[in-house]
Amino acid sequence: MYAGRLNLRTLIVGEEAGGLIATTTLVENYPGFVSIPGGKLAERLLEHAKHYGVELIEERVEEIRQNCNVFEVLTSSGSRYEAKSVILATGTVHRKLPAKNAEKFEGRGVYYCALCDAPLFRDRKVAVVGGGDGAAKEALLLAEYAEKVYILCRDEGLHAEPPNLRKIEENPRIEIINHTNVVEILGEERVSGVLMQRQGREERLEVEGVFVAIGGIPRSELARRLGVEVNEKGEVVTDKQARTNLAGVFAAGDVTAGGFRQAIISVAEGVTAAYSAYRYLTSEYVETRRCNGEP
Ligand SMILES: Cc1cc2nc3c(=O)[nH]c(=O)nc-3n(C[C@H](O)[C@H](O)[C@H](O)COP(=O)(O)OP(=O)(O)OC[C@H]3O[C@@H](n4cnc5c(N)ncnc54)[C@H](O)[C@@H]3O)c2cc1C
Repeated sequence: MYAGRLNLRTLIVGEEAGGLIATTTLVENYPGFVSIPGGKLAERLLEHAKHYGVELIEERVEEIRQNCNVFEVLTSSGSRYEAKSVILATGTVHRKLPAKNAEKFEGRGVYYCALCDAPLFRDRKVAVVGGGDGAAKEALLLAEYAEKVYILCRDEGLHAEPPNLRKIEENPRIEIINHTNVVEILGEERVSGVLMQRQGREERLEVEGVFVAIGGIPRSELARRLGVEVNEKGEVVTDKQARTNLAGVFAAGDVTAGGFRQAIISVAEGVTAAYSAYRYLTSEYVETRRCNGEP
């Protein structure tokens, strides 16, 4: 939206319009909205950007190449776009559960998105693996369908936002089990339970669904291949102006090394990146394709 208002000819190339926030039911901490469905918030942001002429293409970017001061963006359909500046906002992918059989049962009892799959578990028992606010929100949504929701936390207590924690404490369908490490998913054709390690002992818990909410891994492969610096966690390194180590390449949101992964922070970093791209294009960019300062 800012890039559009700054008269930059702006193209968003995104695999799934809306990103991660569109996969969460209610967002209750985005300024200006006491409560708004994640999908609706994403829709509104996109509409606002389109209002200022920004275009969206729903495709996967396979490669970004630098050719002097022009970037070539190659997509899954074989399309090729040229850009004078690039903003990387590729977010994260769900961290997979490092337990035996977790991959085998993916889609047959092991899931990564409650909004997408919670209705499958009406009147059934499920577990949420994770200890953060994401896990809390997944559990609250699941409790609208499931008979019982266990939150399996590795540490002591759930590190969720206090309003979400309160809702969990008041919900008789949700139970938190602390100091738990899920080591195996049990079942034949579908999931029938989990094997957990608790204080040196192994315990079984009967559940038909396991929802994994143990955070995300930055999707920074494109950035890395382009020559953008990433830290030891794979997060893109930026300065306060959202600049990366490459001139003309900016980054924003969960893919960067910010620490607190939230929609409002990603949005604010996106604004900074758009403004920095504008500054770059209007004051630093050299129109002719010069490499390394050659005439
Ligand atoms: C369960 C859960 C609940 C949450 N609840 C809240 C909440 O209540 N409030 C809040 O503020 N935050 C919440 N968050 C966090 C919030 O969703 C993220 O902080 C935010 O979505 C990050 O935005 P982003 O644009 O940086 O990345 P994402 O939202 O991850 O978007 C990245 C986009 O880039 C696309 N992409 C990646 N690689 C490519 C490629 N090669 N080609 C094309 N497209 C690509 C992806 O498909 C995706 O659309 C929640 C997260 C989870 C998991």
